[in-house]
Amino acid sequence: MSPTGTPAHAHHRPSLVPRLAPLPDDPAVIVVGAGAAGIAAARTLTARGIAVAVLEARGRVGGRTFTTRLRGHDVDLGAHWLHAGPINPLVKLGHARGESLRRAPQDGHAWVSGRPGRPAERQASARAFDRADQAMTRGAAEQGPDRPAASALPPALGPWGARVAQVHGLVSGRPLGEVSLHDFPSMEYGDNFFLAGGYGAYLARLAQSLPIALERPVTGIDWSGTGVTVQTPQGPLQARAVVVTVPMMVLWESLAFTPALPGPVRAAIDGFSRGIYEHAVLHWPSSPFRGADRLVAMAGGRRTPSGLLARIDGTPFHFYELDIHEAAAIDAAGGDADRARRHVRAVMAEHFGPRAIRDLSIPAVSAWRHDPWSRGSWAVVPPGHAGARQALHAPVGDRIWFAGEALSRLQWGTAGGAYEEGARAAEAVAARLSNGAA
Ligand SMILES: Cc1cc2nc3c(=O)[nH]c(=O)nc-3n(C[C@H](O)[C@H](O)[C@H](O)COP(=O)(O)OP(=O)(O)OC[C@H]3O[C@@H](n4cnc5c(N)ncnc54)[C@H](O)[C@@H]3O)c2cc1C
Repeated sequence: MSPTGTPAHAHHRPSLVPRLAPLPDDPAVIVVGAGAAGIAAARTLTARGIAVAVLEARGRVGGRTFTTRLRGHDVDLGAHWLHAGPINPLVKLGHARGESLRRAPQDGHAWVSGRPGRPAERQASARAFDRADQAMTRGAAEQGPDRPAASALPPALGPWGARVAQVHGLVSGRPLGEVSLHDFPSMEYGDNFFLAGGYGAYLARLAQSLPIALERPVTGIDWSGTGVTVQTPQGPLQARAVVVTVPMMVLWESLAFTPALPGPVRAAIDGFSRGIYEHAVLHWPSSPFRGADRLVAMAGGRRTPSGLLARIDGTPFHFYELDIHEAAAIDAAGGDADRARRHVRAVMAEHFGPRAIRDLSIPAVSAWRHDPWSRGSWAVVPPGHAGARQALHAPVGDRIWFAGEALSRLQWGTAGGAYEEGARAAEAVAARLSNGAA
């Protein structure tokens, strides 16, 4: 956070600002939020000729996908990987639109106790990850009560065992002991892509010409009448139905429903936990890693980065990924971007030596956990809460639909999953409107 209370990433400007259309006078559907899910919902409804009004709290589109320009390069401060290529709708759409997608390399680097990893170490690391994945997939398929994903990790994963738990905790957004085993292996990480110009810029292109009003935060949704009345500081707006795409963590605190949401819906929303994952963007021309877009598996040392992505698109930019433990320690010490920078430099110095990081600078650090419009990086399903994503698929009162990353079973926590859920909700609304029910 800055001293003014604005999260660090919010000071950066988007690399691409789409031209937006004015809101229609009499929308049939209101979409709350113009992230991946909201953009998908608006595109789907518009394509069906349904008048839609999108209300977005921030002064830009894209939500947790956000590309900015740093030192002449487009850099993502939120989502960066297009995960799960075969099922990610944004990969399919990207190919169809002629977007410049590049497949993520399968190989990576290893860095062990201050030196490049040996082939045997790289193989041992890969074996440990394979064994863990198999065990967790088996565990998830078990009948019986849900349990923490950590309980399915094989006990003897060798020297890389701690690393396996650390990395899975990072990509889960919380330690595996706090993550549902039944929910865990739903995401297909294989066959990932990156996109030239950044993921956020891609979503901004997809928002082109949509009727989106920026800086229009929704404070309440009244569904006591026949349709919905959506409250904003600029006044109310009415429609027959609403698609709510704001993050679960925002729904916990800053959006009031009148009447209150039904108990099971509220319980599903409140049962998620806050996932934390932040980028520290490193600019490191003399980095020892060559080749574009390789992950670095690191071991040894007192503190080890959970995630390091080297030479993004062949540039000097790297991502150092901060996990929930690092974010908590930074917050306990005051929570500002400079503390995050000092922490990252200290860890990098431990592994590479102070001389090697002399030209390393950190032009941006994200703080989505402090952003009032996200309050976290994604929603996490804790043990015992595995039905929540599906529970939120049903409309409330035939006029409120939820969408967003938290509802995606197979692509949880991702922009692709959010996009798919936005399109799904919009199709359901369109079907209901054409039946005259909403
Ligand atoms: C650092 C980081 C790295 C990530 N890396 C990846 C990755 O590599 N690949 C990947 O696929 N995913 C990644 N993710 C996750 C991905 O960004 C999200 O899952 C996805 O963007 C969520 O889309 P959404 O539409 O569900 O929500 P959002 O993008 O959060 O969109 C919701 C929108 O609602 C708006 N809003 C909130 N409250 C209100 C309100 N009251 N009124 C009006 N508008 C409101 C918000 O401003 C926002 O624009 C990452 C996330 C973070 C934070």
